Amino acid sequence: MANQPQIRVLSDNVANKIAAGEVVERPASLVKELVENAVDAGSTQIDIDIIAGGRKLVSVGDNGCGMNRDNALLAIERHATSKIRDVDDIEHIATLGFRGEALAAIASVARFRIATCARDEDMGTEVVVDGGKLRDVRDIGCPAGTTIEVRDLFYRVPARRKFLRSYQTEMSHVRSTFIVLALANPAVGMSLRVDGREAYHLPAGAGFSDRLADIFGRHYGDNLRAVDHDQAGVRITGYVSIPTVHRADRGEQYTFVNGRAATAPLVGYAIKEAYHTLLPGGRHPSVFLFLSLDPELVDVNVHPTKREVRFRRPSDVRDALIAAIRAALSSDATGKEDGEAPGASGVPAPSAVPTAHVQLNIEDLPETRTFRYPRMPATGGGEGGAASAGIGVFSSQPSTPEPAEAGVTASAASRAPWSWCRVLGQVGGLYVLLETEEGYVVMDPCAAHERVLFERYMRDLERGEIASQNLLMPETVELQPRDARCVRKHIELLTQMGFGVSEFGGDTFVVDALPSCFSSVQPAPLLVEVAHGLEQAGSRKAKGHWREESIAQTASRTAVQARDKLTLEEIEQLVVDLAGTDMPYTCPHGRPTLIFTSLTELNRKFGRS
Ligand code: ADP
Ligand code: MG
Repeated sequence: MANQPQIRVLSDNVANKIAAGEVVERPASLVKELVENAVDAGSTQIDIDIIAGGRKLVSVGDNGCGMNRDNALLAIERHATSKIRDVDDIEHIATLGFRGEALAAIASVARFRIATCARDEDMGTEVVVDGGKLRDVRDIGCPAGTTIEVRDLFYRVPARRKFLRSYQTEMSHVRSTFIVLALANPAVGMSLRVDGREAYHLPAGAGFSDRLADIFGRHYGDNLRAVDHDQAGVRITGYVSIPTVHRADRGEQYTFVNGRAATAPLVGYAIKEAYHTLLPGGRHPSVFLFLSLDPELVDVNVHPTKREVRFRRPSDVRDALIAAIRAALSSDATGKEDGEAPGASGVPAPSAVPTAHVQLNIEDLPETRTFRYPRMPATGGGEGGAASAGIGVFSSQPSTPEPAEAGVTASAASRAPWSWCRVLGQVGGLYVLLETEEGYVVMDPCAAHERVLFERYMRDLERGEIASQNLLMPETVELQPRDARCVRKHIELLTQMGFGVSEFGGDTFVVDALPSCFSSVQPAPLLVEVAHGLEQAGSRKAKGHWREESIAQTASRTAVQARDKLTLEEIEQLVVDLAGTDMPYTCPHGRPTLIFTSLTELNRKFGRS
C-alpha cells in the first residue's frame, strides 16, 4: 500500500508561479496588467516599450500617483492591493484591478524592476526582483509616477517559455492589446515603441471619435454610426458599422463594460441579432460599444484576466444592446456626430453577389426631373404616421431641436443623405443613378424594392393587418418531398401570413389566395421559393421570428424578380418608399441598396481641395 502523501502549504513563490499561469500568458498580458495598473493610478500619459516581441523587455511608464517605499514593496506581495478592502467591495468595483496578484505573479516569472515616486515625496524607490526573489531596494531620484520593466519573461520557466510563439504572433497580440486599451481610455495619452521605433503615438485628452481616427485613420468613421441609448438602466454609447460594410471575422468587435474591455456571450448574440437580415450570412459588423450600468449588476470576478463578465440581468442588457444598435442603424439616425456627408461611400463590394437580376427599362426617360421631398423632422414620429416616417431619411436638418429624451433618440445632429434627388438614368441596364445635393447615389432597384416589400409585409404582420386576396383561378402546386414537408409543417403560419394553402394529397397543394401585396406573383413559384427559404433558414437554426422573416424575405425577392419593367414614376416612388424603411441601406438579405459617393470624395479623387 502506498504511503499517505504528505500535504504541504505551498510557499508564496510557488503559489505566485502557479497564479502567473493564469494571469501571465504571454507578453501581451504584461501590457494589459501594467497599463491597467497605470490607468487605475490616475495616469494621463502611459508609454510602452517592447523589445523582441516582449520576450526581452516590456516596459510601462506612467505619470500616475506613484508609490512610496512601503507600498512599492507591498505591491509585489501576493494578494496585496490598494483597491479593495473586504469582500463587500467586490460587489461594486470601480477600478480595473482588485485581485492583487498581477505584480506578484509577473515578478515571480521574470526579471522585474519598479522605479516609482509618489506625487508628494521627493525621493523615489527602486525595487528589483528576479524570479520572485527580492534583490534590491533603494532610493533613487525619479519623476512622479511609476515605470515597471519586465525582462526575460519566463527565463526560469522553460516549460512556459516554450509556449511563446513567433515574434510576429506575440507582437500582434501586443498590438491588439494596446489598441483595446487605447480605445478603452481615449483621454489617456498612450504611446507604443517597438524595438526602439514608435508604432503609435496617441495624444492625451482625445474624445473617442478622435481616438478611433488616430488609430484607424481619418476616414474610418465614414462607415460608422453613432450609438447612444439608455434603457432599463443600461447606457450604451459608441459606434457600429453600417450594414454595407462587413468583415469575415469578429476581429473588429470591441466591447467595454464600465470602462473595462470585456464581453459576455450574450453580447455577441445581441450584436448578431441586431444585424439580422442586414448582413449576408457569415459576415460580421465592426462595433465599438461602451456599456455602463450599476457595478452591482456586473460580476467581473469570473475570470482571472477579467475578460469575461457576467450580468445579473442578462436579458435587460441584451434587449438594450439590440435596441441601441437598431436605433443607430435605422434611417432616422443616418447622421454622424460631426454632420459629415453620410457614409455609404467607399463601400466595398458585397461578398454575396445576387444570383439573377431582372432587366429594368425606365421607359421614356424624359429630360430629368427634379423632385423634392418635403422636409420633415428626422425623428418627428407621431403625427403624419407613415408619411412622416416615409420621408425621414431624406429630410435634412430637423426643423425643431429634438428634446434630449432618454431612449431611442437618434444622435441629435443627424443629417440625411440628401434633401432632394433626381433620377439621372440607368447604368448597365440595371443600376439607377440618382443625383443628390451632396453627390450621387447608385441604387440597386431590385435590392431597394426587396427592402420596401419586406418591411411593409413585416409591419403589416406585426400589426395583424395582413390582407389576403383570393385568386381568380386556384392553382395546384406539386412540391419536392422536402419542400412539401416544410409547407405542411408551417401551413398555419402561412395562413396567418395571407397564403391560402391547403393539402391536396401527396405532395400537392392548392393555393387559392395570396397576401395582397404579392397577389400579382405567380402562386406556384412563390410557394416553391417560400418553402425552400424556410427549409434553408430552418437548417441554420436561426432564432426569433426567423420563420416570418424567411417567408417575407423570399416572398419579396420572388415578387421583385417577377418584375421586368419600372417606369420613371415607379422608380421615383421606390426612392420615396425606400426612404421610409427602417433600414434603407440594405436589402433583407444584406446586400446594399444604395452606394453613396459624396462630392467631397469626388473632389478628393480629382485632386481638387
Ligand atoms: P491589483 O491591480 O489587482 O490591485 P496588482 O498586483 O496589479 O494588483 O498591483 C498591486 C498594487 O500595486 C495595486 O493595488 C496598486 O496599489 C499598486 N500599483 C501597481 N501598479 C501601480 C502603478 N503603476 N502606479 C501606482 N500604483 C501601482
Ligand atoms: Mg493590477
